[in-house]
Amino acid sequence: MDNSLFEGKKATHEALTKADYKRYEGEYIDVYFKLEDCIHVAKCLINLPEVFNVKRRPWVCPANASAEDVAKTCDLCPVGALKYIMHDDIQELDKHCESPDEKIITAEDWKNLNS
Ligand code: SF4
Repeated sequence: MDNSLFEGKKATHEALTKADYKRYEGEYIDVYFKLEDCIHVAKCLINLPEVFNVKRRPWVCPANASAEDVAKTCDLCPVGALKYIMHDDIQELDKHCESPDEKIITAEDWKNLNS
């Protein structure tokens, strides 16, 4: 699923914000998330845990992997709860979020995803 699209067109910040997506800014890509649409199949968490980690706040840190990997992982989201907008620049790794080791995800973690 191409999650750079929203309602059949390239996603824009304005359209996603209006549709209640929350933005997680990165240097080369911004990720948008809509909790109400998430069905918790955890494809994002399994595929790219350094970026998607419900044990950490913010739970999405786009700068923790290449923009290409972030985009590919967002595309795995089967319901469009994750969207993204690529910036135009070259992608580089710029880590600034910490990733705890805990692997067990609790119901509480899911409930707090919008933080
Ligand atoms: S955001 Fe998408 S991929 Fe991640 S857990 Fe929710 S439904 Fe699954």
